[in-house]
Amino acid sequence: MALRKIIEYPEPLLRVKAKKVDTFDEELKILVEDMAETMWEAPGVGLAAPQVAQSVRVIVVDVTEPGEEKHYMALINPEIVEHEGTQLDEEGCLSVPELTAQVQRYKKVTVDYQSEDGTSKQLIAEDRIAVVLQHEIDHLDGILFIDHLSPLKRNLYKKKRKKMLALEQTG
Ligand SMILES: [Zn+2]
Repeated sequence: MALRKIIEYPEPLLRVKAKKVDTFDEELKILVEDMAETMWEAPGVGLAAPQVAQSVRVIVVDVTEPGEEKHYMALINPEIVEHEGTQLDEEGCLSVPELTAQVQRYKKVTVDYQSEDGTSKQLIAEDRIAVVLQHEIDHLDGILFIDHLSPLKRNLYKKKRKKMLALEQTG
């Protein structure tokens, strides 16, 4: 396993619609393991392949319940096929530094996906894990959580981020 570099907004690769996976090989397994390690190390609760500059439809999600030993799920080609209700929760993103904000999401989602060996599966999730799934699946379509904020909040962040990047370059 190896850590991968997480790319950050406004890196254009984050905006590309990721390609469907149709080869379930060793390379895919390595990508999944690297993504899980990178997620734990960050630390984060989910990671999408485009965040490590791989434009493929792969996500990993922390599904650890309180009191359990840490474990994750890998979802290949995930797709939300049903949803129910709404919830408002605080979100952040490893690719969007120094911002958290309230985002409205579905309360409950049904997700069709494939496991690492290509088997078709379905997952029903609620609450926090449902939020993480929606956030990570958005990444596969080039959507960031800031896209769900009001234009005012989004523009404020864009300005802040520009300043951060300018400081990084000079300092
Ligand atoms: Zn994210």
